[in-house]
Amino acid sequence: MADRMAFFTTPRHPRERRDPQERLGDWREVYREGATLPVAGDQAARCMDCGLPFCHHACPLGNLVPDWNTLVAHDDWRAAAARLLATNNFPEFTGRLCPAPCESACVLAIDAEAVTIKNIELAIADRALESGYDLPQPPERLTGLRVAVVGSGPAGLAAAQQLTRAGHTTTVYERADRIGGLLRYGIPAFRLEKHRLDRRIDQMRAEGTVFRTGVAVGHDLPADELRARSDALVVAVGATRCRDLPVPGRELAGVHQAISYLTLANRVDEGDYPVSPVSAEGRHVVIVGGGDTAADCLGTALRQRAATVTQFDINPRPPGRRASGQPWPVHPKVYRVTTSHEEAGGPAAEPRVFAAATVGFEAGPDGRLAAVRFAEARRGDRSPRPGTERTLPADLALLALGFAGPGFPGAGFSGPGRDGGLVGQLGLAVGPRGTLVRDEEFAGGADGVFVAGDAGRGQSLIVWAIAEGRAVAAAVDRHLRGRTELPAPVSPSDGPLTV
Ligand SMILES: Cc1cc2nc3c(=O)[nH]c(=O)nc-3n(C[C@H](O)[C@H](O)[C@H](O)COP(=O)(O)OP(=O)(O)OC[C@H]3O[C@@H](n4cnc5c(N)ncnc54)[C@H](O)[C@@H]3O)c2cc1C
Ligand code: SF4
Repeated sequence: MADRMAFFTTPRHPRERRDPQERLGDWREVYREGATLPVAGDQAARCMDCGLPFCHHACPLGNLVPDWNTLVAHDDWRAAAARLLATNNFPEFTGRLCPAPCESACVLAIDAEAVTIKNIELAIADRALESGYDLPQPPERLTGLRVAVVGSGPAGLAAAQQLTRAGHTTTVYERADRIGGLLRYGIPAFRLEKHRLDRRIDQMRAEGTVFRTGVAVGHDLPADELRARSDALVVAVGATRCRDLPVPGRELAGVHQAISYLTLANRVDEGDYPVSPVSAEGRHVVIVGGGDTAADCLGTALRQRAATVTQFDINPRPPGRRASGQPWPVHPKVYRVTTSHEEAGGPAAEPRVFAAATVGFEAGPDGRLAAVRFAEARRGDRSPRPGTERTLPADLALLALGFAGPGFPGAGFSGPGRDGGLVGQLGLAVGPRGTLVRDEEFAGGADGVFVAGDAGRGQSLIVWAIAEGRAVAAAVDRHLRGRTELPAPVSPSDGPLTV
């Protein structure tokens, strides 16, 4: 501990954001570049280096938070980077995108403001990349064993990096034209500039990981054939089936799945289109959903110069602070103003309508979407309360209702599907929520097949995907060599801290 009383004398200094109006004029990250570095030392000194660090337990990766806080407070960035990279393959992603359950579990947060753990993590990650503390680590020798990883989201990437570094010849197969999963085409550039992803992929290439894009395993390349020519296969295909909203008018032109809309906006950023084929410009937009995806649609629609944007959240407005049922150290559901809500003018000009159940979509004279009907959602079953129905003009509606697992039957966004495709070819079982069944060693289906990330866990977080990627790599290594030195931070049955 650098300063025993810093938690008492130094106030929390959150990461500085650019002015919302400036942000809306571009697609760059919302935070001020380099703003964390000058304050990181003082902020890290606020860490009390508790005997029982709950932050460490709340982080699925088991990040050694008090260790690196102390090192940053002592200006020893090289050692801090070594500690951080020992548990996290991609801290530049979690440092930007993680909801930071560690901060909810920080002992200081019991009656004061938590240490800015996530910002310090980011400062270390960025400094490590700039200072050459995070260089490629090619294996000293190859095992001669081949592993195929299907899916290039954070779970597949973490698994591949661990397996390559352990000496296995690892190839990542991705059906999309670019690597990255939801980091590439889900999360907008204003929350993660894609050159950061490219830099990490370049590092992985330099270590020996091979990437094959435009290959939908199960369709373009039979999954059983791929399994037969590999020594092990990791399925990390995400939870790619969008939940739908089966209400009258769903089929109208102008009603889109959020992920399709976000993908197109990201493709503009990648240079594939000059403007998005589904743009919010000049439109009255309604976003149905209350999570990260909905907030990303809001920020995107505002940057595309929508005429108005309204967000329907079916849940009632959460409390401003921890409710009694969500005591420290759990990560509580509280009212949050994301950067997108801030850009919309919130909380003063709140774009969200809480407890709003969407009842149907109405067409205008041209047959396209013209209005959305909604009602107050009852507490409990969240059904529309009779007599409360209203109509809001809208010519673009975005459905951000979350994802079911890749085995979920029915219409959805290009998942491999339950019938045929990868799931059938590998003999994978599908659980009740559409996720792929695996045992406590991440194994599922045919021998030598493993499942990691949202595909097995269901829709989750980047930090869990990376943790599962690291853990599945350990399981694969043990399967191939009979032993492993690779870390396994989580098991498939682990979950967030609860009381
Ligand atoms: C809009 C949005 C915003 C989000 N924001 C956050 C956030 O701020 N913080 C956070 O922690 N989490 C966030 N999440 C959740 C997070 O992105 C996911 O939990 C995480 O990406 C899951 O990682 P994954 O590797 O399991 O799967 P994914 O990232 O979904 O990657 C799976 C990959 O597999 C590929 N694939 C699928 N089938 C095949 C096949 N048959 N052959 C080859 N490839 C295939 C897919 O194309 C995809 O690239 C967000 C999610 C969305 C949608
Ligand atoms: S990965 Fe997330 S939970 Fe873990 S230390 Fe970083 S911000 Fe906290």
